[in-house]
Amino acid sequence: MANTTVAIAIDGPSGAGKSTIARALAADMGFVYVDTGALYRTVGLAMLRRGIDPHNEEQIVAVLPELQVSLGYVDGTQRVFLNGEDVSDHIRTPEVSMAASAVSALPPVRRFLFDLQQDTARRQNVIMDGRDIGTVVLPFAQVKIFLTASAEERARRRFAELQEKGIATTYDEVLSDMKERDYNDSHRAAAPLRPAEDAVFVNTDGNTLEESVALLKSLVEERLKG
Ligand code: C5P
Repeated sequence: MANTTVAIAIDGPSGAGKSTIARALAADMGFVYVDTGALYRTVGLAMLRRGIDPHNEEQIVAVLPELQVSLGYVDGTQRVFLNGEDVSDHIRTPEVSMAASAVSALPPVRRFLFDLQQDTARRQNVIMDGRDIGTVVLPFAQVKIFLTASAEERARRRFAELQEKGIATTYDEVLSDMKERDYNDSHRAAAPLRPAEDAVFVNTDGNTLEESVALLKSLVEERLKG
């Protein structure tokens, strides 16, 4: 791929603060923020809506050709579309999180979403977050960051987000879902969650959002200079 654009890859487990930090950093740097988890969530939602078990590879593969997943930007905010319908507000429930984790383990689903992710990065400067961005989707990214935080801190943050959205759940449920998703994401055969060899590790435990954004910004600037 001709590489005239700048790509910053941010990978890490759920709730490490990737999306909040990446969004703020992208706004600050004038880059487009791409949340790839939203794509897997959209495929998960599509399966739930069709009554298909998100682990059932055969049925999922049969349905994939009927799905059109695309990204759009409204006032600089990413929206994700499923066959033309803006599903951005339907993909954040705990049920869809678990379905996304299940479908994302299937290689045909990862292949299905691959071109969309690469094409998006080809067209503009991006900060893209996910699990395999630095290792598989954008191995040529100029900057790769692996963002982590303890499971308890990540669950606290995710629980607060869900409460703000009025989604009924408990801290213990969020923590146990998060541990299950972490396990699935890092133990699957297809594109498991792991740091790229040239990734910089950042642990956000105890940081405010502002501190994490400032830290990443200085890291990115340093890498882009070098
Ligand atoms: O980042 P988010 O929690 O929204 O992602 C939802 C699920 O999608 C994750 O649990 C993970 O299983 C999957 N995912 C993935 N690869 C990515 C982004 C997300 O497998 N690049």
